[in-house]
Amino acid sequence: MLKKITNSIWKLNLDSNMYFLEVEQKILIDTGSRMKRELLKMFLPKMIALDKIEKVIFTHLHYDHIGNADLFPNAKFFASKQEIKDFRENPELTVLNADILAKSGLQKIELKPIVDMNGLKVINTPGHTRGSICLWYEKEKVLFTGDTFFSGNLRSSPTAGKSCLDHLCLGRTDLPTSIDTEMKNSIEKLRKLDFKIVCPGHDY
Ligand SMILES: [Zn+2]
Repeated sequence: MLKKITNSIWKLNLDSNMYFLEVEQKILIDTGSRMKRELLKMFLPKMIALDKIEKVIFTHLHYDHIGNADLFPNAKFFASKQEIKDFRENPELTVLNADILAKSGLQKIELKPIVDMNGLKVINTPGHTRGSICLWYEKEKVLFTGDTFFSGNLRSSPTAGKSCLDHLCLGRTDLPTSIDTEMKNSIEKLRKLDFKIVCPGHDY
């Protein structure tokens, strides 16, 4: 369940994927599904104590990516400016699950607008949600795609090579904060990047 991707990146695959990065700071990308909370608590500490996570970056704020935000008491939390704006205007429509929204404590957490940091470049990729981002770790040529791209029928993960984008599934763009018309532009942005490994938000 916990898999080494590169020298500084580990993947925890529990329905939704989480990525732990040791890059200057200890960073977690997404916090997974609440339904898999016990497994998260069992596996992630094999790599790092939960209270040692310094930053949590959300690719977007759907319930299956923010579900365990309350497990990281010492982290600072980041999402895109647009995603934070949508969340403030309508938390339930942004998260898509009122129960998990309440349990995650997300409304009590200070969400900071993300900028490039710790070698991670932020790529704004509106489509699946207006405020969705991908993160590009140029140093190891890794692209974190959130729900913009799923593994689709490739199954093997991480998926390697730039051309693999052609085989991946695109995230849904019919959800309350989706913006269907932007998806094409977002994909074009990603194609211009130099990466060898894709780390998607889900393996299905
Ligand atoms: Zn999503």
